[in-house]
Amino acid sequence: MTPETSLDASYQSVCSLTVDLNVATPMLRQFLEIKQNYPGVILLYRMGDFYETFFEDALTAAKVLELTLTGRDGGVLGRVPMAGVPVRAIEGYLTRLLQQNFKVAICEQMEDPAQAKGLVKRQVVRVLSPGTLNEGALLAQDAPNYCMALVTHPAKGKNQVGLIYGLAWVDVSTGGCWAMELAEEDALLGELARLQPAELIVPGKRVKNAMGFDETLAKLPETLMQAVAQVCPCQPTPVADATIQDAAIGETALKQLCDVQTLEGFGLHEAPAAKQAAGVLAAYLKAMFVAEPPRLDGVQWVRLQDAVYISPSARKNLELTQNARDGQVQGSLLGLLNQTCSAMGARQLRRWIEQPSLNVAEITRRHEAIAYFLAASQRLHAVRQPLALCCDLERLSARVANLNVTPRDLASLRQTLAVLPELQRALSESASQASLAYLSALNTLPDSLKTLEAMLSSAIADDPPVALKQGRVIRPGYNAGLDALYELLAGGQAWLAQYEQQQRELTGLKTLKVSFNSAFGYYIEVSRAAAAGLTTLPEDWQRRQTLTNAERFISQRLREHEKDVINAQQQAASLEAMLFSELKLQILPMASLLKQIAMRLAAIDALQSLATVAQAQQYVRPVMTQDATLEIQGGRHPVLAQMMPMGRFVPNPCALNGRAEPQANAEKPLNCEAPSLLLITGPNMAGKSTYMRQNALIALMAQMGSYVPADAATIGLCDAVYTRIGAADDLTAGHSTFMVEMSETAQILNNATAKSLVILDEVGRGTSTYDGVAIAWSVADYLVTHIGCRTLFATHYHELNTLEQTFAGIVQNVRMLVAEQDGEIRFLHTVAPGSAQKSYGIQVAKMAGIPAEVVQQATRRLAQLHKRAATIEAAKPSPADDAPEARPQLSLF
Ligand code: ADP
Repeated sequence: MTPETSLDASYQSVCSLTVDLNVATPMLRQFLEIKQNYPGVILLYRMGDFYETFFEDALTAAKVLELTLTGRDGGVLGRVPMAGVPVRAIEGYLTRLLQQNFKVAICEQMEDPAQAKGLVKRQVVRVLSPGTLNEGALLAQDAPNYCMALVTHPAKGKNQVGLIYGLAWVDVSTGGCWAMELAEEDALLGELARLQPAELIVPGKRVKNAMGFDETLAKLPETLMQAVAQVCPCQPTPVADATIQDAAIGETALKQLCDVQTLEGFGLHEAPAAKQAAGVLAAYLKAMFVAEPPRLDGVQWVRLQDAVYISPSARKNLELTQNARDGQVQGSLLGLLNQTCSAMGARQLRRWIEQPSLNVAEITRRHEAIAYFLAASQRLHAVRQPLALCCDLERLSARVANLNVTPRDLASLRQTLAVLPELQRALSESASQASLAYLSALNTLPDSLKTLEAMLSSAIADDPPVALKQGRVIRPGYNAGLDALYELLAGGQAWLAQYEQQQRELTGLKTLKVSFNSAFGYYIEVSRAAAAGLTTLPEDWQRRQTLTNAERFISQRLREHEKDVINAQQQAASLEAMLFSELKLQILPMASLLKQIAMRLAAIDALQSLATVAQAQQYVRPVMTQDATLEIQGGRHPVLAQMMPMGRFVPNPCALNGRAEPQANAEKPLNCEAPSLLLITGPNMAGKSTYMRQNALIALMAQMGSYVPADAATIGLCDAVYTRIGAADDLTAGHSTFMVEMSETAQILNNATAKSLVILDEVGRGTSTYDGVAIAWSVADYLVTHIGCRTLFATHYHELNTLEQTFAGIVQNVRMLVAEQDGEIRFLHTVAPGSAQKSYGIQVAKMAGIPAEVVQQATRRLAQLHKRAATIEAAKPSPADDAPEARPQLSLF
C-alpha cells in the first residue's frame, strides 16, 4: 500500500503535487520542494522538538499512527493538514510505519534555529524502508533482512534470445551482498520464494495517471509483476529515478560501497544482468542512506547450479521455514531443527534449510561435523555453553565497518572474544581432521584478536550503557584525564554534602536540603515554616522559588560549584566521545576479520544444532550418492513424529530409483530394482500426503547437511524438488484452482530431470472425473517415459493402478493400509505393496461428522452405482475381441 492509495476522497484537495509553490508560505514551500524528491515516501520534517508532516502525508500518518490531524495556516493555501510526532518518541512511530510497508524520509534542521537567519536550512538525512534497516526493533534476530533489486537484461551469447533476469540482494545489517542471473522465470520465482525479501525494487517509469498525477509504474511485464507478488512477502516497488537506473552511476556506487577500484574480483564482468542489478541496488542504498551509505563486503556471485531447486509450492507445502497454517516458524522444519545458541547460528541454519546443497563434499563436511559431536557425549554440551555467550557478531561486525557500534556492542564483542579460547578447547579434538574443517576453523586465530580483546578490556567499562551520551563508558584507569574529571565530579558530591552541613549549622535548620533540578540547577530548600522563622537570610542567599510547603534559594557559592560541575561533565563527555571514536577507528580495520569469525561461529552453531536434534530424535547419517536412488528404511515425518507421543508415528520405507532412459516395454528386463514412480492409493486421512512429504523432507534434510529421521537412508542427490499438492486457490491472481493445479503440473513436466524428486497429490481432481483420470494418467505416463524422475504419485483414481503392469518395474502400486470392521475404519498409516480397492470416502465423511441421514443415503447411492457399473462391465465384449495391443483397462476407458 502506498500512501497515495491509502487516502480517502479528501486526497485531491490536500495533495502536495497540486500545490502552486509560488503561493505557499516559505516554510511550506521548503517542505514541498523537498517532498518533490520523495514521492510515495512520508516526509517527516523537523520543527524543534517535533517531526511534522503536511498535506497527504499528514492524513496518512494521522490514520496509521492514530495521531490527531491538525492544520497549519498556509496563507493563500488555507489550512493545510498537519500531523506530528515528538522527536523523543520517533522510534516507536517509525516502527509502526515501516511495519505497514511505508517508507519514511527524515528531514533534519541543518543549522541551529537560534542562529539561523531566515528559514532554517533543512535536508533529508536518511530514508527508512523495510529492506534497508540496520538496527531497531523491526529486525528479526533469526532471519535475514534483504533489500533486493530485480532487472531484466538482453540475453547474452549467440544462441540465447530474449531476456535474462538479474537479481541482487543485500542485508544491510550484516553488509552481505549477493547477485545472480537467471534465464527462466520459474527459477527466478524459486529464488524470490527462497529469499523472501523485505523490499524488492524494480526499474520503473513515471507516467501521468488518470487524475493527472505522476505515478511510477514497473517497466517489467505485468504478468511477471503478478507472479513475483505471489511469491514475495512484499509488493515490488518501481523506482524511476534516472540516477538509480543508470548503469554507470550504479557501478560507481557499487565500487564505493564495497570500497574497491574494480568489480572484476567479484566475477561480475561475466554476468552483466547481475552486475546491473547490484548497481541499481547500490545506487538505491546511496539514495536511502543519503549521508552515510553502508559498507558492503563485496558482492558474492551466486550460481543456481550449486543448490537444489525447490519450487515455490514445494517450499510452502513442505513447510521448510514457515508452517502452512499461520506462516510461523513453529511447526516448520526450521522450527524443529533450530537448536542454535546464537542469532547468527540461527540465520546460518535457515540459509542451509532454504538452500540444500548439490555438492557432496560440502554435504559430507556437515555430516562429518555432526558425527563428531555425536561420537562423545560431552562434546555438544561443551560447545553449546560458550556459543550461548557469543553476541551476534555477524551484525556487530557490520556496525564496526560502518563506525556505528555502541558502547554495549563493544562490551559484547569483548565477551565473545573471551569465549573463543573455550570454544577452541571444546573443539580441539577436531583439529587434526581435514574433513572437520568447519569445527577446526577456530583453531588458528590471529593474535590481533587477543590484542583487540585486551584493548577492549582495558578501555570499556564492565557494564557500559547502550548510548555513549549516558557516560561512564570508558573504564577507570584507561585515560588519566578522564579519571581526573570523574574524580572531580565524585568529589563534587562530597563537597555538596559538606556545604549542606555548613548551611544547616549556619541557619540552625536541620531539615535544610541542597538539591538539584534541571530547571534551576543546584538550590537550597527549606520548609516554609522554617524559612519564616529565619530572622535574616544568610548573606549570599537569594530567594528563587516559593512552593506550597517550601522555599528555594540559590547562593553564589552554589552557582560557582554548578559551573565547575557542568564544566567537568561537559569535558568528561567530550573526552569520552573522543576516546570512543578513537576506539572505533582502531577496530575498523578488524571488521572483515570479525565477520569471518562470525561466519565460522555461525556454522559451528548451526552444526551443533543439527547434531542436538539428531541426538534427541535418533536420526541417522544418510549415505549420499551421485545416482538417482532414494532408499529409506523406517522413514518418519520429522515434524509430525516429533509432535506425536513417542512411538505413535508409524515409520514407513521408500525405495525409488530415477532413470533417464525408461523402458516402457514390460517385456525387457530392467536393470534397476526400485521403481521410479510409486502410485499411492488409500482413503483420505490414511497418511498419503504425510508419507510423500516425509520422503521429500528426508532427501532435503540430507542435502542440507543434516542427519535424517529414518533407520537408514541412501540418498542420490536431487537437483530439484517439485510438489503439486492440495488445492490452494490463487483467486487473487485471477487463477482458478484447476488452473493453478495445471500450471504447477506444467512447470514440473517442463523442468524436472531424471535427478529430480516430484510429488504429485491428486492431480486431475480439479475437473470432471473423466478429464481428471485422463490427465492424471497421461501425466504419470509422461513422467515415466520422458523424464524418469523419482515420483511419488498419490491418487484416488484407482484406474491408474494398471500402470504398474504397463510399466512393470518402473511403476509400483502401494497403498495405505486400513483396518475395517463393522463398517468402521481405522487408519494404520502403513504403506504396503498393492493398490487400495476402496476409497472409504463415506466412512471418512462419517468420521468428519456428516449427518447420519446423508451418510446412509450416500451408502445406498454408492451401492446402486456399483451395481450399474457391474452390469455395464458384464455387457462389454471380451478382451479377445479388442484390438491386439489392447491392455487391461478399467470401465472408464
Ligand atoms: P491423506 O493425505 O491420506 O489424506 P495425511 O497424510 O494428511 O492423509 O494424514 C492424515 C493424518 O494422519 C495426519 O495429520 C497425521 O495425524 C496422521 N498420520 C499420517 N501419517 C502417519 C503416520 N505414519 N503415523 C502416524 N500418524 C500418521
